[in-house]
Amino acid sequence: RALPIDTEKKNFVRQVRGACFSRVEPTPVTNPEVVCVSAKAMALLDLPESELRREDFAEYFSGNKLLPGAETAAHCYCGHQFGQFAGQLGDGATMYLGEVINKKGERWEIQFKGAGKTPFSRMADGRKVLRSSIREFLCSEAIHNLGIPTTRAGTCVTSDDVVMRDIFYDGNLKDEKCTIILRIAPTFIRFGSFEIFKAMGTNGRQGPSVGMKEILLQLLDYVISTFYPEIWAAHTEDKQKMYYEFYKEVVLRTARMVAQWQCVGWCHGVLNTDNMSILGLTIDYGPYGFMDRFDKDFVCNGSDANGRYSYKNQPKICKWNCAKLAEAISEAIPLETTRPAMVLFDEEYEKAYMGEMRKKFGLLQENLPEDDDLVKSFLSTMQATGADFTNSFRCLSQLPLPGSEHFHDKMAEVKRFLVSQCCSLEEFRQGCKPLMPPAQLNMLLQMEQLHPGLVQHLGLTAEDLAEELNKANKVEELKDYTPERKCGEDEEAWSTWLETYSERLQKEVEEGADVAALNEERVKTMNSHNPKFVLRNFIAQHAITQAEKGDYTEVRRVLKVLENPYSESVDLEDVATAARPSENTQYDAD
Ligand code: AMP
Ligand code: MG
Ligand code: MG
Repeated sequence: RALPIDTEKKNFVRQVRGACFSRVEPTPVTNPEVVCVSAKAMALLDLPESELRREDFAEYFSGNKLLPGAETAAHCYCGHQFGQFAGQLGDGATMYLGEVINKKGERWEIQFKGAGKTPFSRMADGRKVLRSSIREFLCSEAIHNLGIPTTRAGTCVTSDDVVMRDIFYDGNLKDEKCTIILRIAPTFIRFGSFEIFKAMGTNGRQGPSVGMKEILLQLLDYVISTFYPEIWAAHTEDKQKMYYEFYKEVVLRTARMVAQWQCVGWCHGVLNTDNMSILGLTIDYGPYGFMDRFDKDFVCNGSDANGRYSYKNQPKICKWNCAKLAEAISEAIPLETTRPAMVLFDEEYEKAYMGEMRKKFGLLQENLPEDDDLVKSFLSTMQATGADFTNSFRCLSQLPLPGSEHFHDKMAEVKRFLVSQCCSLEEFRQGCKPLMPPAQLNMLLQMEQLHPGLVQHLGLTAEDLAEELNKANKVEELKDYTPERKCGEDEEAWSTWLETYSERLQKEVEEGADVAALNEERVKTMNSHNPKFVLRNFIAQHAITQAEKGDYTEVRRVLKVLENPYSESVDLEDVATAARPSENTQYDAD
């Protein structure tokens, strides 16, 4: 159900009641210019290559000209933001363009992000800037190429128009270029799409279409019949069973999606219910982040002060969001009925997570209960030694199965590689990291003031301590930080872990097995589940900096590399090495 456009007051901001969509029109931009195109994503739309080279291509993909048959509209949705029901949100900066059915019979919805104000823009301008658009464009395609369900990005078109942004919320406004991306997915309907019917949050907010049960049923039936046709066909006689099967499938897909994020060390950053796809796709790329150093407490979103959306919290937050979806559709199917499906989340998550981890570690022959501990100890060793998530996993395939030629030499090599990463910890200690946590420093400083000279034996003065304390107070995540860890400890930690690992690998080799053949299979599997290339923040940032100077070659090159994240042949190592930070970076505004 869509409300007609008000041609007098186009795209004016308002509460939208009794409808799921409002018709809107893109706001034109000056001098649109193509930054990059994902040919692979555009191929979903059956656009011939010649169309991609049209002179007026940028006109169409900025929204200046409308594609034939387009029916632009903005979608009304609500959401729980950071745990609180926020009421109406909606497509404030995105808009539906239409759907394309391709030669394979697949149905793809296309939408603009950044094409100007809609009824849902609230206080904002409906625009996106070059920086945020490149980040979404590159990461959607990166996540897709890693084999994780996601919305896609087809084009990124910038312009000469600017909007002001305060990137670090520090009061420094900067003009940034209005940029529009084309997103592609079967649908962009979210959990939050069903929350427009929600009666009342604890904060008194309510959905704009509260009480309109017939629209809820219409939306449910539309989503199930269009995107879950098997469930629709199997249960036409029994709507309750149909809704149950639909909800269960959403829960299972969501659990599998977040398991895959965990396995590549990726954080979404804003897991509000309005950013949860009803198809279990990764959706809305804002302050996301791939971890460099492994840190279970990593928070990629600079505005998430409490770490609600930290790496380790992602699975339980996704489950919580599933519970909110059950509440949102509870007028159609009671909570008692959906509850058994929600309980399946944990089991499905574990199954998907351990299934993927087994492939990452090359545990292909046996499925042992102790494998769980092997994964946990690998993660805790990475955490303790400051190892890089992506590189540590990738190097494991260098260790052949026990019984292979040069096994011990190879093991020493893998250990050297893993331990070499502790050097970044040295850099850390010399550079940006303080000596010890604030509480400890504070205590030492107080004691030093009582007994001057007390810290002399540490080679420190009271001034050093004060400076360290100043540094430490700026770093939030110091609670678990162990000062004075020696490289020798890192070496011991990795030796111990590699011993456990090789004992486990021994169980992969049966008496009389063809070790070489097993090994070949193992390396192949591992190297297609442990990416060599992920979109690290500093790589994205380097491409953005170049693009902001008008040079888009780096964005295009990074896209190309990320199209083959598991390949050995391409090399990103020459990219921005100087810019690589020794600590995981956070991202703020998008
Ligand atoms: P997000 O945190 O990106 O999921 O966005 C939350 C809400 O803010 C959604 O309703 C968005 O459409 C809206 N929003 C985000 N950025 C903008 C923008 N630049 N202009 C208008 N609305 C926006
Ligand atoms: Mg969003
Ligand atoms: Mg966003």
